[in-house]
Amino acid sequence: MRPYEYLLRYAPVDTTSNPESETCPSAAQELTLAKMLADDLRAAGCADAHVDEKGYVYASLPASPGCEGKPVLGLIAHMDTSADAPGHEVKPMLHEDYDGGELRLPGGPVLSPARFPFLARMKGETLITSDGTTLLGADDKAGIAEIFSAVETVAQQNRPHAKLCVCITPDEEIGRGADNFDIPGFGADFAYTVDGGDAGSIEYENFNAARAIVTVKGFSVHPGEAKDTMVNAANVAIEFHNALPEMDRPEHTEGYEGFYHLTQLYGDVNEAKLGYILRDHDAAKLECKKQAMAHIADCLNGKYGAGTVTLELADGYRNMLEKVKPHWHLIENAREAVRRTGMTPIEEPVRGGTDGAVLSWRGLPCPNLGTGGFNFHGVCECTTVERMDRAAAILLEIIALYAQ
Ligand SMILES: [Zn+2]
Repeated sequence: MRPYEYLLRYAPVDTTSNPESETCPSAAQELTLAKMLADDLRAAGCADAHVDEKGYVYASLPASPGCEGKPVLGLIAHMDTSADAPGHEVKPMLHEDYDGGELRLPGGPVLSPARFPFLARMKGETLITSDGTTLLGADDKAGIAEIFSAVETVAQQNRPHAKLCVCITPDEEIGRGADNFDIPGFGADFAYTVDGGDAGSIEYENFNAARAIVTVKGFSVHPGEAKDTMVNAANVAIEFHNALPEMDRPEHTEGYEGFYHLTQLYGDVNEAKLGYILRDHDAAKLECKKQAMAHIADCLNGKYGAGTVTLELADGYRNMLEKVKPHWHLIENAREAVRRTGMTPIEEPVRGGTDGAVLSWRGLPCPNLGTGGFNFHGVCECTTVERMDRAAAILLEIIALYAQ
């Protein structure tokens, strides 16, 4: 089957993950798709395909004759879709020979090149969208579809290949896709996630992440008699925030520029709280951001009295680059595969975290390949038949390179 055929098959199955849930998978309906995926992987040639008790689908294709000793290659995608847009009763639609102009979906939203400039590049392709009332779910059912199509082609055509391992995870969108991933059971030496970005994109750098909570304790007295006595916690919190560099915020940064992002703000005279997330591709620069916050807290405690400001810092995910570097063949082979399909590799740092980053730090080096999808997590989500074909062709070239 071609990748878009798999996508049309999976898109109508609601797999919206649930951030409120404490189970894995977070939503029971993910298991419905998981069972379909295991069946389809068996039909594609992976005899051992199965769903584990957490809803992860694992499968493998034994190495072709002569490739038995080669390192084992993994391919990973996620089955859940984001709760940011409706994911129930998705009705995928094909728009053949898209003219590159405005396209009104039945549900109302308009795909316009003025708003989404990438649409101009899709002129002449067969666009795939939802009906405009839901997301499409190409994130990441397009990734699943491309992996399945590539694996099926390899099996049917007896193409030379090292052992291939496939895993489709639940709950990536709520940041838990890597939590119950059984790396030893999976059995790959290294892997690619296939998720997001245009076909031809290769991602191997992401942010290092930390969180900060600033708690300010004030001293409240009657405002009429407050001179030289009152400490207004809300004012101290504002002072803390204003001591951070104003331009190092998400709305003023791009590329490799990190930031402090104020995500929560609460305050009265007695107590105030500020919540931040801190991000930087460079781990040393992230450390500097943490130290700057500690320095501001110290200064304010010197000014208003010890214990006025408390700073709690916690580290989050880390940049995968450090873990991918010792396996640079993953990047070189991906670049070569993209070139062999007639495209130019697109390489940009990810301004977020990925499950691949978590897996890389847990011992499975795992850069990401683009699926050809756009406008994720919204009702304007789209991809094209041709871009999905290209993404699958890149996977086939990668599989061929690892069989050499
Ligand atoms: Zn995704």
